[in-house]
Amino acid sequence: EANRIYNFNPGPSMLPLEVLKEAQAEFLNFQDTGMSILEISHRAKAYDEVHNQAKADILELMGLGDDYEVLFVQGGASMQFDMVALNFASAEKRGNYVLSGSFASKAYKEAEILGRGYVAASSKDVNFKHIPAQEEIKLSDDAAYLHVCYNNTIFGTEYHYIPETGDVPLIADMSSDILSRPLDFSKFSLIYAGVQKNLGPAGVALVVARRSMLEKSPADLPTMLRYDTYYSKNSLYNTPPAFGIYMVGKVAKWLKAQGGLEVMAERNKKKAALVYDAIDNSNGFYAGHADKDSRSFMNVTFRLPSEELEKKFVAEALENQLGGVKGHRSVGGMRASIYNAMPYEGCEKLADFMEKFHKANA
Ligand code: PMP
Repeated sequence: EANRIYNFNPGPSMLPLEVLKEAQAEFLNFQDTGMSILEISHRAKAYDEVHNQAKADILELMGLGDDYEVLFVQGGASMQFDMVALNFASAEKRGNYVLSGSFASKAYKEAEILGRGYVAASSKDVNFKHIPAQEEIKLSDDAAYLHVCYNNTIFGTEYHYIPETGDVPLIADMSSDILSRPLDFSKFSLIYAGVQKNLGPAGVALVVARRSMLEKSPADLPTMLRYDTYYSKNSLYNTPPAFGIYMVGKVAKWLKAQGGLEVMAERNKKKAALVYDAIDNSNGFYAGHADKDSRSFMNVTFRLPSEELEKKFVAEALENQLGGVKGHRSVGGMRASIYNAMPYEGCEKLADFMEKFHKANA
């Protein structure tokens, strides 16, 4: 598509073109219902199949079995910050948090508002340029869970190990690296993600959790904040965000057709290497924010020698069909978000542009 740009936005972000086209093609008449997916009942059989197939494909991609369940919840990843603390933490059993970036800190803040939070490790003192190591994580004696943000969208850092927590459930916000690489997902008790980066449009939070985590919520919680509501009703207690779930299902199917998470991980690693090499081979013209051993495969953050050059970089990048490269204000500089749907050629083009821009402006 000639008029589409390479979109490096952090989220909402690029979706696979094939998926967009498929949705477009069946938009006006979904599966011979004579209606679009936006118009059919969430109790209709055609919708039911979409809903359950999406769930099954996600579990299959993650290599998880019947002891895990998939939920679809509204309110974004931010409401999961609340649901996690409300469902699992209490004044007696505090939620433990690793502060590795701004969303990790926001998750902790929600537990703090409830008086149930504890900081188990933090890299705030170095402006979150690395992921705290296993040795730095000190769980409280009363830990209800350990919460980690697996990929830090703003700072461009990502876990390259799975924290060991013994009997304490491990909970992860994977909003910005969900289904981008294979992991031993069975080490996690609950994973959640706002789907608008790697999986679909905004409006759905995906939750994948051990069934034992979802069976019973505290008695005093309102209905829509209880995991057991979503669990016992197959996420159909009320009207689900049907269009978003439909798109998530399509992306999951696309991921399977690509060859699954191993293939995606290979591709994502190569894509990230192109951009990191452009940084590392620039004699310091580009300065990466993240420490090398914490670098994210999804969000590449870097600065230029001056803010003036950074402005120029953003403008000229766009002239070259490279959009959304401006970084978040808390880090400054650039951020290239290169989720699953960003093709290899997009990263090649960006790396190429970086080299040319460096030569022209050194
Ligand atoms: N966690 C992470 C890692 C994120 O990147 C974001 C969104 N950028 C959020 C949480 C918040 O997600 P939402 O907007 O869906 O609430």
